[in-house]
Amino acid sequence: MSKLTQTNWDVIIVGGGPAGFFAGIRCAELNPDLNVLIIEKAQQTLGKVLISGGGRCNVTHACFDPAQLIAFYPRGGAALRGAFTRFQPADTIEWFEKHGVRLKTESDGRMFPVTDSSTTIAECLRESAKRAGVPVQTGTSLQKVESLSENGFRLEVRSEAKVFHLQTKKLLLATGSDSKTREIVQSLGHTIEEPVPSLFTFNVNDKRIEGLAGVAIEYVTLKMDSLTQRGPLLITHWGLSGPAVLKLSAWGARILFDKKYRSRLTVNWLGDYNFDSALEVLQRNKDWRENARKKITAHPAVSQIPVRLWKQLTQFIGDKNWGDISKAEMRKLAEELTAGQFEISGRGQFKEEFVTCGGVCLDEVDFKTMRSRVVENLFFAGEVLDIDGITGGFNFQSSWTTGWLAGSAIGN
Ligand SMILES: Cc1cc2nc3c(=O)[nH]c(=O)nc-3n(C[C@H](O)[C@H](O)[C@H](O)COP(=O)(O)OP(=O)(O)OC[C@H]3O[C@@H](n4cnc5c(N)ncnc54)[C@H](O)[C@@H]3O)c2cc1C
Repeated sequence: MSKLTQTNWDVIIVGGGPAGFFAGIRCAELNPDLNVLIIEKAQQTLGKVLISGGGRCNVTHACFDPAQLIAFYPRGGAALRGAFTRFQPADTIEWFEKHGVRLKTESDGRMFPVTDSSTTIAECLRESAKRAGVPVQTGTSLQKVESLSENGFRLEVRSEAKVFHLQTKKLLLATGSDSKTREIVQSLGHTIEEPVPSLFTFNVNDKRIEGLAGVAIEYVTLKMDSLTQRGPLLITHWGLSGPAVLKLSAWGARILFDKKYRSRLTVNWLGDYNFDSALEVLQRNKDWRENARKKITAHPAVSQIPVRLWKQLTQFIGDKNWGDISKAEMRKLAEELTAGQFEISGRGQFKEEFVTCGGVCLDEVDFKTMRSRVVENLFFAGEVLDIDGITGGFNFQSSWTTGWLAGSAIGN
């Protein structure tokens, strides 16, 4: 595209991701007289949207109360509280509906396009930008920014090994977790919270879960340091995954980073049971006459633990029948079931979603407008900010919200 022949713009948006597109479309729809350009360093825009949600794009979450919504953000929740009163999942649904895409809700609250295809979302954003008259320059990366105070900014950009200069009155950085841009943001005087990965699985090498890849447990409680998370758990070839693990990885992202992804993990396989209530269940099982001659390892005392897992958790008891279990063994088993000790030995990849926590320090941004409090006419939206959510559509929602707010402020 030859748009770079035009060097002066009212608005330049750096980053052709969901936040950049949402901001660009919003500001051009509000104020068609503005000339707005999106630059994107990759050859195609919306790369993460296309691979998101296993190719289905988990656009948002059916949670419509801002106060409840912010609880899904390990970082950035407080700042988003007011922002969600202005643009929240209900507005996202309406926005996509107005732009020709219907969303549907799954039983766990996650929302997807009815087509179950992330291409629908990417195409909608590209088409809407086109219709709003927002050109998108791909293969073009921001290299440097010079602030010209009231005259805006002079940008150095690189495209096909050539360096150009562009000038803009307003600049929006929606560059996601790109490290180069973080340096540029720092050079402008902003503070960056150190970026670390969030939403990952745990590598756990332990005999008790060996060979059980694919076994799922509906509801467990996990504890690590002072953190507790509950939910479904999945045993994988490398360790542990599933919603409970992903939530713990998000809330514990910085702790685990500092510990080099090595930490003690306590697993309560019985969710809300404690040691005493588990012991009671085991005692009842032992007292049941019909059980007396049944092998402990083959006959779980509780239905929530799959037989294959139960067998490995009770291995230490050997070949005994329920009638022969000793008090000490029963206490040890209750402990194993409600406070099993495991060692996290590394970080695994969760292929459906991945985000980075850290980014532009939130105190330095006005969340009514997404305007920088440090540099005039500079705006931020999306993952470039120190905001991240747990899995479930919350990360895109913060990009839609902050993108929309920035676009509204720029366009007004
Ligand atoms: C595999 C995967 C699956 C995911 N699935 C989901 C999901 O289903 N639901 C959900 O809510 N979240 C999901 N996420 C998280 C979500 O993708 C991000 O939170 C979201 O994309 C952030 O949007 P953004 O616009 O801020 O940044 P990005 O999507 O990262 O877009 C930033 C853009 O800026 C460009 N850029 C960076 N630096 C420059 C530069 N210097 N010059 C020009 N361009 C630049 C980048 O190339 C990129 O295209 C997923 C993430 C991954 C990795």
